[in-house]
Amino acid sequence: MSIDATEGRRPRATSLRYLAEAELAHAGAGLAFPSDLEARYRADTNEDRARQLRSVSLVGALIYVCVCLLLNAFVIPNPLWRNVTIQNVVTPALGLAIGWRYFRPGVAFARREAAALAGSLIYTVSVILAVYFNPPEAAAQNLMLVILPLNFALVFARLPFAYAIALVVMSLAFHTLAVLARPDMPAAARGFPIGFVAAVCIPSLYCAYGLERAFRRDYLHRLLQRLQIEALSAENDVLARLSATDALTGAANRRRLDSELKRFCAAGAPGGAFMLIDVDGFKAFNDRHGHLAGDVVLRELAGCLTGQLRRCDLLARFGGEEFAVLLPGVSGHEALDAAERLRLAVEAHRVALNGDLLGVTVSIGIADLASCPEPTILLGASDAALYSAKKAGRNRVCAAWREPVS
Ligand code: GH3
Ligand code: MG
Ligand code: MG
Repeated sequence: MSIDATEGRRPRATSLRYLAEAELAHAGAGLAFPSDLEARYRADTNEDRARQLRSVSLVGALIYVCVCLLLNAFVIPNPLWRNVTIQNVVTPALGLAIGWRYFRPGVAFARREAAALAGSLIYTVSVILAVYFNPPEAAAQNLMLVILPLNFALVFARLPFAYAIALVVMSLAFHTLAVLARPDMPAAARGFPIGFVAAVCIPSLYCAYGLERAFRRDYLHRLLQRLQIEALSAENDVLARLSATDALTGAANRRRLDSELKRFCAAGAPGGAFMLIDVDGFKAFNDRHGHLAGDVVLRELAGCLTGQLRRCDLLARFGGEEFAVLLPGVSGHEALDAAERLRLAVEAHRVALNGDLLGVTVSIGIADLASCPEPTILLGASDAALYSAKKAGRNRVCAAWREPVS
């Protein structure tokens, strides 16, 4: 599977966790992760990597210009202004152009790293050419200056290890060609620079390998921590939802109702009402049809009531066969209309049970926030109104501020 094709894809957290743990446990010598994990690694580190390469290319260009100016001025004076210009302007300009074009977050991993390899190669080849085209003064040993850009790229650009090897091989090949192509340099002095540069590259390559490995292992630890936190917060969300929900009906439970009621009253909202809804004769219903049938009815009742309410209203199971509804921002008149709508909907609702279509009715007591600004007063007033509705014959609505309406 192509890694670039999977960039940005998010495999499931559990499988990522398993892969990351397995990678850490079996710490082999390899540098690439399994494809899903590699895709996530590249997506997660993409922005940081682009930023890092941008700053490395800027610093690298700056160091290169300074070193080249010193070189031309003191070590191998270069009389040809054209060579000096190419060396000091064209090479860093090319390096910076590559950085500007490819070291951005949107660029695919392979293209960006290939650009980093190309940029590094431009600097190493440029140093080799700068010495090579200076026949009178340059000695074979001067070609060893390639060590500077080569090691800078290996350590600071942190190329992927395969790219780091490619950089070393290509630079060494170029370096060897340059040394061999200068017959004016003493033959005895030619072998040493090649061997020396090759030998210096070994610890740098090892360093590049160790850095990439350490960086990847550190990423695995950070990823595992993040996945653990994500899993915990998802579990917390579920627990929080469960602790606020009534298990039988799915409506809010008493704990949630109490806290919402407190907030509702403390907010001093301009309008609002509270209803207590009680199923009529439910004990008899249970006795006749069984408690399991009663449970089904309570569940259906919650659904039926929710269907009649606004999104901002809160339906809660108050206890047993009683429900409560919090209606923010309604006038007494609107609350009465809503309660009547609920009552009629329940009356019309039928539940299919054991081949029968069964129904229940409800009595509703309402109190309004304007005259009952405290939770206990609101509850007491709606309870008293509910009691009035029951006393008046059930299946009706009664407001704390008036007589039963139906
Ligand atoms: P009223 O019209 O005066 O409200 O009469 P009622 O029979 O509904 O009132 P009562 O308080 O006498 O009985 C309430 C019944 O509600 C008794 C109890 O078995 C039933 N009940 C309470 N919680 C549940 C429940 O979770 N499931 C079932 N199936 N029944 C429940
Ligand atoms: Mg009751
Ligand atoms: Mg009842």
